[in-house]
Amino acid sequence: MTEPDRPAILGGEPAFAKPPSWPPVPWLEVEEAAQRAMQDGSWGRYHGPHCRDLVEALADYHSAENVQLCASGTVAVELTLRGAKVEPGDEVILAAYDFKANFQNVLAIGAVPVLVDLDPQTWQLNPGSLEAARSDKTKAIIASHLHGGLVDMTAVCEFAARHGLVVIEDACQATGATVSSNGDGRPAGMAGDVGVLSFGGSKLLTSGRGGAVLTNRADIAQRIRLYTHRGNEAYPLSELQAAVLLPQLRQLDEMNATRLRQASHLARLIEKLNLPLKPLAPLSLEEPSSSQPAFYKVGFQYTGEGLSRDRLCSALRVDGVALDPGFRSLHRTHSRRRFRTGGELAQADVADERCVMLHHPILLENEAAIEHVARTIERILAHAEEVSAAPEPGS
Ligand SMILES: *Cc1c(COP(=O)(O)O)cnc(C)c1O
Repeated sequence: MTEPDRPAILGGEPAFAKPPSWPPVPWLEVEEAAQRAMQDGSWGRYHGPHCRDLVEALADYHSAENVQLCASGTVAVELTLRGAKVEPGDEVILAAYDFKANFQNVLAIGAVPVLVDLDPQTWQLNPGSLEAARSDKTKAIIASHLHGGLVDMTAVCEFAARHGLVVIEDACQATGATVSSNGDGRPAGMAGDVGVLSFGGSKLLTSGRGGAVLTNRADIAQRIRLYTHRGNEAYPLSELQAAVLLPQLRQLDEMNATRLRQASHLARLIEKLNLPLKPLAPLSLEEPSSSQPAFYKVGFQYTGEGLSRDRLCSALRVDGVALDPGFRSLHRTHSRRRFRTGGELAQADVADERCVMLHHPILLENEAAIEHVARTIERILAHAEEVSAAPEPGS
C-alpha cells in the first residue's frame, strides 16, 4: 500500500513514475540523420561529409575560425593545454571545485594544478583569487562554467592579458550559452583564447562520446593540429557521431531557451515556497543582460539544516527527481603533493558539502512537471526527520 502525500522514500507514490530520459526517444531529426548516414555508407568511412559539415556548423554557430573535433571533452581539454604550450613543471590555475578530469589533464601533461576559491554567490572560479595563485611558472587558467553558472570571463581575461596567460574556457556544461565579455555577449567557448565542448552521453549536444576545441588563435589551432594528426587522426570523432550531432546543433538555441524558461520558473517557485536552495545562475529573466546561461545542470547552494544534502538527493531519486550532489572539491580528494593552492578555499569547502544539481532532461517537460519538482522537494523537507531516519534506499 502506498500512502499519498508522503515522500516515496517513506512509502508514498513516486512523484515521477517515469522520469524523462536523455537523449529523448524518439528524436526524429536525429534518427533521420543516422538513417541517411547508414543508407549512403558514410557511417563506415574515414572521410565523409558529416565531420566536415559539423566543423563548418560549429564554426558558424560560434564565430570560430578554427574547430577541431575530437573523441571527448576530456581529450579536448588536454589538447587545449598542449595548444597553450603548457609544459612539464608549468602551472595551470583552476577552481578547486571543477570537473575532475580537468585536474587530471593538467597532471597528465606533467604540469602542476594551482587551485583557487570560488565566488561566494555563483560558486564559479573567483577572479579575485587569481593574483594570489600566480607565479612565474603560471601558463594558463582553466575557467569552467558549471551547473548553469557563468565565470566572470571579463575579469579572468583581463587578468590573463596583464600577465600573458592563456585562458582555456570549458563550455562543456554551457554549450550555447552567451557569456558576457567586456560588455559584449560571446558564445560560450569563445570568451577566452581557446574553448572546449563535450558531446558526451548526457550533454546538451550528445553523440555518446565526443568533443571539440574552438579557437580564433591560429598558433593554438596549429599546435593542436600537429599534435592530433600523426599521419592518421589520433583522437577522432566518427562520421556517424557527426551526423547525429548536426540536427541537434540546429535545435540547440530553441531547446536552450526552453530550458532557461523552465529553470527560471523553478527558481521562482523555490523562492515562493521558501525552499533552502539558492541558484548558482542569475535567473531573473526580466533584467536584460549580455549573458545568458545554458543548463546542462541547474546548480544550487543547499542551505537546509534539518536534512543532509546527500539524504535530500537520495530521497529525491526515489521520487524520480534527478537532483544529485555536486562534484567533490579537488583539494579534498587529491594528495597535497599533487597541487598548489592560491589562497584559502573556504567556498570550495562549502561547495563540496552543499552543492546540488538538477539534471537537465526535466527542463524540457511542461511547467506542471517543474511545479511537481518543487512540490516534491518541499514534501521531502517537510518530512525531514522521518526521511533522515529512513534506511538508505536500495540497502
Ligand atoms: C562533461 C564535462 C567535460 C568533458 O567530459 P567528456 O565526458 O570527456 O566529454 C569536461 N568538463 C566539464 C565541466 C564537463 O562537465
